Amino acid sequence: MCLFCKIVNKEIPSNIILEDDNFIAFHDINPKAPVHILAIPKVHVDSFNEVSGEMMSNMTDFIQKIAQEVKIEESGYRVITNIGDNGGQEVKHLHFHVLGGAKLKWGHFSDADPKGHF
Ligand code: 5GP
Ligand code: ZN
Repeated sequence: MCLFCKIVNKEIPSNIILEDDNFIAFHDINPKAPVHILAIPKVHVDSFNEVSGEMMSNMTDFIQKIAQEVKIEESGYRVITNIGDNGGQEVKHLHFHVLGGAKLKWGHFSDADPKGHF
């Protein structure tokens, strides 16, 4: 069973913010912003590559509720999902990073030439 499935099953403790029948949101163990929450489906989905449009529709509602719950919907925030090796996905269970609570930087994503691919 993967790490986040264990969090869903409460085999590994987490600091839960919001939970419904299909999704769970908890604080990231290694926060990169004052607010850093992970939103995941309770069923195992490897990554964004495999998620259905229907699940994403419900995930959208869930993430909006998180933003309201932690009061960042007005000040602004960022939603990120990393996919695969180049995306930097370490945990192979679909998750959305919800980051906020401060002005976020728009980072340096790669040492490669950003104009090099096309
Ligand atoms: P990824 O790099 O796969 O997009 O993000 C995985 C995230 O999961 C990282 O931000 C990491 O800090 C977080 N993480 C890894 N293990 C745990 C854990 O056991 N508990 C919690 N709450 N977060 C975790
Ligand atoms: Zn899983």
